[in-house]
Amino acid sequence: AEQAEISVSKIIMSLMKLGIMATVNQTLDKDTVEMLGEDLGMQVVVTEEKEEVVEEGLDLREDKENELKPRAPIITVMGHVDHGKTSLLDAIRNTNVTAGESGGITQHIGASEVKINGKKIVFLDTPGHEAFTTMRARGAQVTDIAVLVVAADDSVKPQTIESISHAKAANVPMIVAINKIDKPGANVDRVKKDLADRGVLVEDWGGDVISVPVSAKKGEGITDLLEMILLQAEVLELRANPDRLAMGTVIEARLDKSKGPIATLLVTNGTLKAGQSVVAGTTSGKIRVMTNFKGEAIRKALPATPVEILGLSDVPMAGDSFNAVKDDKVAREIAESRQEKMREDVLAKNASTTLEKLFSQIQEGETKELNLIIKGDVQGSVGAIISSLEKLDTEDVRVNVIHSGVGTVTESDVMLAETSGAIIIGFNVRPTTAVQARADDAEIEIRTYRVIYDIIDDVQNAMKGMLDPEY
Ligand code: GDP
Repeated sequence: AEQAEISVSKIIMSLMKLGIMATVNQTLDKDTVEMLGEDLGMQVVVTEEKEEVVEEGLDLREDKENELKPRAPIITVMGHVDHGKTSLLDAIRNTNVTAGESGGITQHIGASEVKINGKKIVFLDTPGHEAFTTMRARGAQVTDIAVLVVAADDSVKPQTIESISHAKAANVPMIVAINKIDKPGANVDRVKKDLADRGVLVEDWGGDVISVPVSAKKGEGITDLLEMILLQAEVLELRANPDRLAMGTVIEARLDKSKGPIATLLVTNGTLKAGQSVVAGTTSGKIRVMTNFKGEAIRKALPATPVEILGLSDVPMAGDSFNAVKDDKVAREIAESRQEKMREDVLAKNASTTLEKLFSQIQEGETKELNLIIKGDVQGSVGAIISSLEKLDTEDVRVNVIHSGVGTVTESDVMLAETSGAIIIGFNVRPTTAVQARADDAEIEIRTYRVIYDIIDDVQNAMKGMLDPEY
C-alpha cells in the first residue's frame, strides 16, 4: 500500500473481490500479488520469494529398494453404529489371548496387535469413520485396509455408506465383515445385494471385495476374517525400512494428572527406541518410558508397532506426524518453529473469519451462529465431535467452534463463553464445583456428555430451535 500509494482498505477490498480475506499484516504469495496488481491496474514484479521452511534435523530421505523389509498391515474397523465394531475388535483381541493372559488385555492405548499363523496385524481401536476422517483431515493416512462391519440383520445403513465413501476417497481397500450371523433375522445375501447397489461388489457378485460372515458375539468366523486380512495385505506388499530414525503418526494423546502428556504413536517406518528424542506435531521431548499395547515396557519398536510414550512436553494432536531426531535440541527447535508458524496461521485465520463474516453479512443479510466451546478427554474425540458438528451447518445456522481442547472445563472457558455467547460442551470431562458455580453465576450453560451421538442430536435440535419459524 505504501509503495503504490493506495489506501490499505482499498487493497483489502480488492483482495476480497478476488475471494481472499487478508489482514493488514498478512503475507501474500506471488500469484496473489500479481492478481492484485492486475486488479489495481499496476504491474507487479516479484524479485524475491520467501523460502520454504526447511526443518533441519528431520530425516526425510527416500528409502532404497534394498533397505525395505515386509511390515504388518494396519487396519481400521468402520461401519454403522451398533453393527458391532467394538464387539468385533473385542472378539479379535480375544482370539489372541493365550491361556496365561486370560484376564484379557485391559490396557487401552488406542491400537492393538494380534498374531495369526505367526503373522502380525495391527488394529486401530478408535472405531468408526469419524476417527478415520479426523486423521485424514490432518494429512495422516495410516490405514492399509478398512474392515467394513455390516450387521446381517440390519444391512446397509447411512453410516455404512459413509464408511464406503471414506474408504474409497482414501483409496484404501475394504474387507466386509458381515456380522451378527447368529441372529434369527440374519440375511447375508441381502447385505451382499445392498452392497452391490452401493457399488461394492463382493466375490459372489463378480467383484473382488472379500466378505466374511462373522459373529462377534459367538466368536465365529474371526479366524477366517484375520486370514483374509493377511491375504489382502500380501497383495499390497507393505514394506518399511527398520534401519532408520523412526517416523509415524500420533494415534491418541491425553494428559494424565500424575504422568503428564501420554501419546500413542504408530511407528510406520524406522525403529523407535526408548531414550530417543522425538518431535510430534508442535511438541517435543525425550522418550522416558515406552510401552507396547499390553502395557509392557519395551526398548525398541519396529515398523507397524503402536506404542505409548511418556516424556513429551505437551499433548500432541491425533493425526500429527512424529519423527525421532538426533537429540533433544533438534527436537525442541523444530517444535518451536512449528509453534511459531501455528501462531501466525491462527492469527491470519482468525482475522480472516471476522472479515469473512463481515463479507457474508453484507452479502446474505444476517447469519445466525451457534457458538460452541468443546472440551474432551482425548484429542481423537474432540476432533471427531468438531468434524461431525461442522457437517451440521445449514444455510441459516452456522456451527462455530470458537475454542476446543483436551482437558476439563476451566474458568477461562467460562469467561470465553461469556464474552462470545457460547455454550460449553464437555465430553467425558466435568467442571469442578467452583467452575460450575462460576458458570451458573454468569448464566453459561455447560453440558456434559458420554456419547458423541447425543451431542450431535442436541446441537441439531438447538439449531432447529434457532431457525425462524416457517409458515
Ligand atoms: P458398534 O456401535 O458398532 O461398536 O457396536 P457394538 O459392538 O457396541 O454392538 C452393538 C450391539 O450389538 C451390542 O449390544 C452387541 O452385543 C451386539 N452385537 C455385536 N455383535 C454381535 C453378534 O455377532 N451377534 C449378536 N447377536 N449381537 C451382536
